[in-house]
Amino acid sequence: MNTAWQGFLDELARWHDAGRASEFWWRDDDAARPARALERLLALSQASATPLALAVVPLLAEKAIFENAGPLVSVLQHGTDHVNRAGPQEKKTEFSPAEAPAAALARLAAARRQLEALAGKRFLAVLAPPWNRMPRTLAPHLAAAGYRGLSQFGVRTDAQAAPGLRQVNTHADIIAWRAGRGFAGESEVLAAAVRHLGAKRAAQADAHEATGWLTHHAMHDEAAWAFLERLFETTRQQPGVIWRRAEELFHAP
Ligand SMILES: [Zn+2]
Repeated sequence: MNTAWQGFLDELARWHDAGRASEFWWRDDDAARPARALERLLALSQASATPLALAVVPLLAEKAIFENAGPLVSVLQHGTDHVNRAGPQEKKTEFSPAEAPAAALARLAAARRQLEALAGKRFLAVLAPPWNRMPRTLAPHLAAAGYRGLSQFGVRTDAQAAPGLRQVNTHADIIAWRAGRGFAGESEVLAAAVRHLGAKRAAQADAHEATGWLTHHAMHDEAAWAFLERLFETTRQQPGVIWRRAEELFHAP
């Protein structure tokens, strides 16, 4: 076994030795239309019995993508249309600071109705904004608009992004966005998870936030698929590891 996997297993053992469960969850972004990679993703969730939170782009979504989704698949709202509205000097975002919150909320509500109609009971009123970005001014309005959760990237600073709005982020991104857009590599991805677990253990991060693995099925090369298979297989054999469903993470505060 290589040092990356060994380091990961050692960290899981520290949690287990301390009598604590290591909680994980899995979010995959950008589902919209039927695709071979999406089929493979759904099959992997099913075969490995790993709960999957599918962040779907509402205005591009087709009903057919939900046909082969097993009972472990939940659906989150991945923005509305995934169009970049950032200004010239801003990082990519669907929700530009220049857009009034009321306008953004109206777009979200219309997109949500469409997605809910397609996804049915799998739909959770949780917003996972594209590029993990959203102006801070929007969060205080989301609970009143019917959302119960928000999911972005990085250690959360509070269990609630705003009153009534639970925040559960992702922490280990398996894609190398700035280096070829393929698999980021075992060392990097496992190290990100170990960093989050270690920070939680040392009380430098909210220990109640499940460690989130972020995937993008359309970008997966064979190495990325192989990694996920090994991750699910390995963690299933580890005592004290729990893969959480999004429904459990985003329960009403
Ligand atoms: Zn996206």
